[in-house]
Amino acid sequence: MRFVVKLGTSTLTRGTQRLSPPLVIDLARQVAALKDEGHEMVLVSSGAVAAGRERLQVPHLPKNVPAKQMLAAVGQPRLMAFYERIFEMYGVTVAQVLLTRKDFAGRRGYLNARNTLAALMENGVLPVVNENDTVATDEIRVGDNDNLSALVASLVDADWLVLLTDQAGLFTADPRCDADACLIAEVAGKEIPPDIWRAAGGSGGSGLGTGGMVTKLQAADLARRSGACCVIAQGAEPDVLTRLAGGEHIGTRFPPLATAVESRMRYILSGGHHAVGRLLVDAGAVGALRRGASLLSVGLTAVSGEFDRGDTVRVMMKDPQGADGETEVARGIANYDSRDLVRILRKPSDEIESVLGYHFGDEVIHHNNLVLL
Ligand code: GLU
Repeated sequence: MRFVVKLGTSTLTRGTQRLSPPLVIDLARQVAALKDEGHEMVLVSSGAVAAGRERLQVPHLPKNVPAKQMLAAVGQPRLMAFYERIFEMYGVTVAQVLLTRKDFAGRRGYLNARNTLAALMENGVLPVVNENDTVATDEIRVGDNDNLSALVASLVDADWLVLLTDQAGLFTADPRCDADACLIAEVAGKEIPPDIWRAAGGSGGSGLGTGGMVTKLQAADLARRSGACCVIAQGAEPDVLTRLAGGEHIGTRFPPLATAVESRMRYILSGGHHAVGRLLVDAGAVGALRRGASLLSVGLTAVSGEFDRGDTVRVMMKDPQGADGETEVARGIANYDSRDLVRILRKPSDEIESVLGYHFGDEVIHHNNLVLL
């Protein structure tokens, strides 16, 4: 299974002004154990600003954006060094992946981020994702790592999104000031009820992180709609990750509303309404697509329309018996733009690099990014 685990600043610092190794060491042990069992893991981690503050001894979180960006610039490499040291003990290689909203907003960025994360996971590397705070201005910011982690979960078709925080989960009221507050074990149903949104109101714990429970609830809702099961749980809960993976119910759970495949198909089909690109393919390619294979350049006979890498395109075949028409057989996300495809059509995949001078993989459309019609 594929897990996205989000660690917030309050968990990383345990409410102090410094990154706190013990908890992270324990989580790293669990991440390594799950990787050993064959699960794929992605970490989304806050803490860059906190690490910058720790280094520069800035006691109060500045309000102005350049100051925060400066702190993130100082803190992000320190945060990565922190993870590198800890995961090294378990033989896990970490990689830094910094994203902004535009990396999810369809098209090229989406595909690039998705492919990079997939390649890292395939090679057993643990991606550690954060927002690219140093360059992200308001228009391109996600703004909080709860929502960022949900976007990542959707990007990688995660089965699980685990939001680790300093609270045991979502409560009916703020447990720090209301003795009657009880933990909500599960949130199901198509819409999240208003009283749960109300209960999540106000911001969370230590004032060090950006998100409160509201952003966690937004993230959970987004994740469950894209096919992941989301859990809000306490980072300090013993063996929280391995127990969750073992099927135990911990914290607040949001079961998925769709499967990841359904949600991907919806994404692809919805992109198809404005699809200008058409790829004409031969009968051999149609047969291969119907058997679940990817679309390769060798089966591509013509390209029409101008489109970018990452755009949704229509896959067409000629109507039989010499008729003039074409029928749409599939829709998918193109790995190459229209100019490149014109140059590589009918060519075997192993010639792509010599023709273009680079390549984005053997597939014109990967079968995971393709919906048969
Ligand atoms: N990206 C910010 C950081 O690393 C944190 C955002 C958040 O806490 O949600 O400091």
